[in-house]
Amino acid sequence: MSAPSHTVGLVSLGCAKNAVDLQVMAGHLVGAGFALAPVPDEADVVLVNTCAFIEQAREEAVAEILRACELKARGLCRAVVVAGCFVQRYGAELAERFPDVDAWLGVDSIDRVVSIAKKALSRKPAKAALCSFAPGLPKRLFEPPVPALRLTGQAFAYLKIAEGCAHRCAYCAIPSIRGRYRSRRMSALVREAEALVATGVREINVIAQDPMLYGVDLPARRGGARTTIVDLLRRLDAIEGDFWIRVLYSYPSEITPDFLEWMNTSPHAAKYVDVPLQHTDPRILKAMARGSAVEATLNAAERIRAAVPGVTLRTTVLTGFPGETQEAFDKLLSDVKCMKFDHLGAFAFSPEEGTAAAEMDGRPPLAVARKRERAVMSAQRRVWAAKAKTFVGGEFRALVVAPGVARLESQAPDVDGVTYLAKRPRRPMPKVGEFVRVRITAVQGYDFEAMPL
Ligand code: SF4
Repeated sequence: MSAPSHTVGLVSLGCAKNAVDLQVMAGHLVGAGFALAPVPDEADVVLVNTCAFIEQAREEAVAEILRACELKARGLCRAVVVAGCFVQRYGAELAERFPDVDAWLGVDSIDRVVSIAKKALSRKPAKAALCSFAPGLPKRLFEPPVPALRLTGQAFAYLKIAEGCAHRCAYCAIPSIRGRYRSRRMSALVREAEALVATGVREINVIAQDPMLYGVDLPARRGGARTTIVDLLRRLDAIEGDFWIRVLYSYPSEITPDFLEWMNTSPHAAKYVDVPLQHTDPRILKAMARGSAVEATLNAAERIRAAVPGVTLRTTVLTGFPGETQEAFDKLLSDVKCMKFDHLGAFAFSPEEGTAAAEMDGRPPLAVARKRERAVMSAQRRVWAAKAKTFVGGEFRALVVAPGVARLESQAPDVDGVTYLAKRPRRPMPKVGEFVRVRITAVQGYDFEAMPL
């Protein structure tokens, strides 16, 4: 095999869906002869894949762009390429603001990464940066190059089943960055999942802005019925092997009895539902343009727990939305205390340019939104502490995801805690990608300590 022509260093920002795009780009680059550098400081090209979901994400993106430009100024890399949601949204402004960046790639151009990276390497400083982002909504869908490159390690993978979003939540810029909901073909998804399992992946995390809408844009099946997420999950179930299927980010009103039934009957389903409520005050939910989901939001925890005994629930809530009075917030706080989610993330509202919520009156000051965010998290810490205690002494199945680190079925990657494995006297540590039985011995914050059995 010939020596790689160039090296590329990857900087991954934002959510798992964005990380999948970076994997697709990395796959194209490696397929074209680039080698992955262990750290950006040792690469010819630094590729920063950005997020633009909220202000904090944009600040992080700016910091990483500046860091990459600094590496170039010090002669540690030769070219900087910036991709992702931030570029899709503000590409032209960014190209002016950061003249040292050699190339900009929008989310509809990620398959152009090889030619862009090569051109970036030979760009003369006086020349304008290369820009590959089209105005308007992205329309394309990308299949990972085969063999797919995985940046999540041996044990687990993300399977992105759709792009874009069909909802129009008033606070969210995603539909204007990522475009309409577009489902990938089921046959391609099954092929990708088969390849993942064949290479040792033991947890497939099914992701999209809302996986529950899978198939909404696909042609109807014979008989006129629409293809659904359950059709896809049943096809994934038919793949031979011992692995979990975990579905993340499900819009409350789209969670059907069929989906919950799948979770009860599938040999692979992780009994885990990530259902972002965002709020529980009906007036705020309506203002958020989630009014059609009020009932499904309010009864989500009860309904899912009744249908799937032993299920783990995660949610997200937003504090400080315009019109959130103290009374509305008190309702949210009291509801999350009662609903007792296993995992919960709270975020203070950030007005996003171009969204309906950015124009709304009655926004509580940021300090108040942050104080409410902290109050929700502090309530959740107490809920978690009580739940976590019940795990101690219990035996569970766990997947080893890194040396000495595993996750239980109740722990999703990146967002929940992990389980640290103790060394067994005179026995080797379980290998990455193995399922093991463990006994939980202690709780450390949101993590567990456990003894492999
Ligand atoms: S469901 Fe709502 S919050 Fe989630 S990506 Fe779609 S528009 Fe944004």
